[in-house]
Amino acid sequence: MLLGKGLLGIEDLERSEIELILETAQRMTEIGTRDVKKVPTLRGRTLINLFFEPSTRTQTSFEIAGKRLAADVVNFSASSSSLSKKESILDTAKTLDAMDPDCVVIRHKVAGVPKRIADVLNAPVINAGDGAHEHPTQALLDMLTVFQQKDRLDGLTVAIIGDIAHSRVARSNIYGFSKMGAEVRVAGPPTMLPPAIEVLGVKAYTSLREVLDGADVVMALRIQNERLEGACFPSVREYAATFGIDRAKLRYAKDDAIVMHPGPVNRGVELSHDLADHRPSVILDQVRNGVALRMALLYLVVGRPQTLRAQE
Ligand code: ASP
Repeated sequence: MLLGKGLLGIEDLERSEIELILETAQRMTEIGTRDVKKVPTLRGRTLINLFFEPSTRTQTSFEIAGKRLAADVVNFSASSSSLSKKESILDTAKTLDAMDPDCVVIRHKVAGVPKRIADVLNAPVINAGDGAHEHPTQALLDMLTVFQQKDRLDGLTVAIIGDIAHSRVARSNIYGFSKMGAEVRVAGPPTMLPPAIEVLGVKAYTSLREVLDGADVVMALRIQNERLEGACFPSVREYAATFGIDRAKLRYAKDDAIVMHPGPVNRGVELSHDLADHRPSVILDQVRNGVALRMALLYLVVGRPQTLRAQE
């Protein structure tokens, strides 16, 4: 279903496609536990990581994912490229495409850039985060992590807390968890809640106690300082007191609620130090699952080389 198509957003996916990606990722997790963490699945294939915005988890895990599948992975560095000689992004992308990669992974600070590039490339494009629009692989690895903890997604209550307005993670997770049958709620300071957010089928709250009431999953988001045009709340201390999650506030949620954060965490602001490091936080499970999830996606999008398939 995904072969040759790439992935620009969770909004475009059917529930069955999400299920296929999660099932494939679940199988890929085993490869990460082996002594030799490599399979020949994408041998002879080339993956280009085209990151125009900083990244730790996403870029590294796409690179590791590609390498675990034996693909050749090229990390394009925008700052040392001809972009610094004023080459346009589209020209840069077309130049790289002429080298016949099998997949291009793109992150850009402007919403819609991966789509614009995908429209002119032969290679399938995977969106690794575009502005405040979507971050589909983050949502998929989040769904995988929740599924591993709860054995289901259907019927769960997922509370997403913080800078909803500027977060691509929030948007992709709202689409994803809703398609999988979960109830999604959001909360944050009124300045960080888009007025029309309920159009996406979620309920918006400005009280932490209310949004957490009965929640199975508590997802805190990073304040997107790089996307804020002015102050959205009076002070960091006030934000932490009102929307920061610590063990005391976590008691509003279900007893077995898990705590998530896409990272990087502003410790002591969105999450207490204690919760950032210890259960029920599953932050490092999210990171670990990011590799398996991206392996699954690359496998489904790129497929195996014909030559290898013919030999089997
Ligand atoms: N790493 C995630 C992203 O790139 C979350 C964040 O930066 O807040 O969107």
